[in-house]
Amino acid sequence: MTQLTLNPNTLAFLENKPLAFFSNGEWLRSGQSIDVVDPATNQAVTQIAMAQPQDMNDAVSHAEVAFKSWGATAPAKRQALLQKLASLIRRDEDILAELESIDVGKPKAEATGFDVPFAADSYDYFATLAVEAQYEVELGLKVTDSHTVKKPYGVAAFVFPWNFPFTLCAWGIAPALAAGNTVVIKPASETPLSTLYLAKLAEEAGFPKGVINVLPGSGSVAGEALISDSRIKLMSFTGSTAVGRHIGEVCGRNLVPAKLELGGKGAAIICSDADVDAAVEGLTGAITLNAGQVCCTASRWYIHDDIYDEFVAKAKVAFESIVLGRGLTESAQMGPICTEKQLAKIFECIGDAQAHGATIVTGGVRPSDESLSDGNYITPTLLAGADDNPWAIEEIFGPVSFLLKFNDEQEVIERANRNLYGLANSVWSQDLAKAKVLAHQLVGGNSWINAHNVFEYGLHYGACNKSGCGGGVNSKATFEGYLRHQSVAAVR
Ligand code: NAD
Repeated sequence: MTQLTLNPNTLAFLENKPLAFFSNGEWLRSGQSIDVVDPATNQAVTQIAMAQPQDMNDAVSHAEVAFKSWGATAPAKRQALLQKLASLIRRDEDILAELESIDVGKPKAEATGFDVPFAADSYDYFATLAVEAQYEVELGLKVTDSHTVKKPYGVAAFVFPWNFPFTLCAWGIAPALAAGNTVVIKPASETPLSTLYLAKLAEEAGFPKGVINVLPGSGSVAGEALISDSRIKLMSFTGSTAVGRHIGEVCGRNLVPAKLELGGKGAAIICSDADVDAAVEGLTGAITLNAGQVCCTASRWYIHDDIYDEFVAKAKVAFESIVLGRGLTESAQMGPICTEKQLAKIFECIGDAQAHGATIVTGGVRPSDESLSDGNYITPTLLAGADDNPWAIEEIFGPVSFLLKFNDEQEVIERANRNLYGLANSVWSQDLAKAKVLAHQLVGGNSWINAHNVFEYGLHYGACNKSGCGGGVNSKATFEGYLRHQSVAAVR
């Protein structure tokens, strides 16, 4: 920690340990705390207080009370507060990017280039939708004089994963708040820092107490208490398919609608007429972004036989040129894996892929650079093998791509669609008309052309099958999903 050159404001924030959680406008600490570890060193950077079931229970009670006025607040007031929050995020971009870098391990430039500004944009985007929305719609029916009123649900609960804490939180809570719901957030206990900082900014922005509550805690204790609270009116979960299934079951029992944004195993279809250099660059960037810990990344690459050798040779060079390093160093293009546990899992997957016949084209080892030996580093990895290899099918969640060959475009679409995940796929071809046809045929929430990991507010980002259900994020439909419809009718 002492060797770090951090913004003094970042240091001041970390020093107040254990960092308290934020409930009903108060900063609270319960009896338990844990270390927050920098994945580049495996040293503690601070401690956080861990919320307990009673804390979650209290937070839901406060959020219920706060909803009575927040749900009735004029949209223009909600807009102003969300815009204020967005401007404070932009003001403190450097601090937030540093927190994201030492917590998740990502290059700071990635956080300043994407995570933080894109999160700020989310609050602005949904703030605008709050005032543009039609909350009362006349139906013009024959028998009844009737209209639909759209109302917020009440307390919305959010459970987030460790890979994009700040951005995913914004994608989740911005539409919920804009629509008039109050929120109780459980960030991952591995990466809670930027969400706690967000609570600080929300307090500064002037959100009424109880509207935004942030309580890190363990999944099985604090998380379980939150998801099983029958007073929550909406559940939004982002994380693994296994935990999502459990949360869906619990919410089903309570009849609480659940939005589940889950894992993926994205396919990239690289046609014989693809621009090989652009595809190599785009896909190398996609699988090394956030050290491959990206749900929607392309982790199985189907390459046409005609260009396979050229593509793989160029991809090998590109992978071997990626500069690994601590996120805070300017040269780092890829940081460490977020946790030691996840690093061990990635090595295990690679070993098992080999045991099932895959070969390593490059990577799959710890870097030789001694200065990186304390961190959770792995070199970007290309595996080659067959469709039935378990790691051509299952999510690894690291910088590992699985190479597969194809000859026929229709046949490869069928092969790609056999996978039960349905998050994001891409098609690479210089024939745009053909690429669009193939993109339509791929089953998933998102089909991108000549790019991978494409986000823009207004462009719906969702999923199907094992990758999730219940909505998606980033569009007008997301905002509408946080409003319930109520019919009001008088017989003429
Ligand atoms: P995870 O499912 O292990 O944990 C996610 C969150 O759930 C954490 O906050 C954890 O504490 C909590 N949790 C665990 N058990 C719980 C329980 N019983 N009750 C309530 N909460 C519980 O996922 P992870 O390892 O943190 O994140 C990686 C996964 O997230 C990957 O599968 C990735 O694909 C997925 N993900 C999906 C998206 C998307 O938009 N579809 C985005 C990011 C990550």
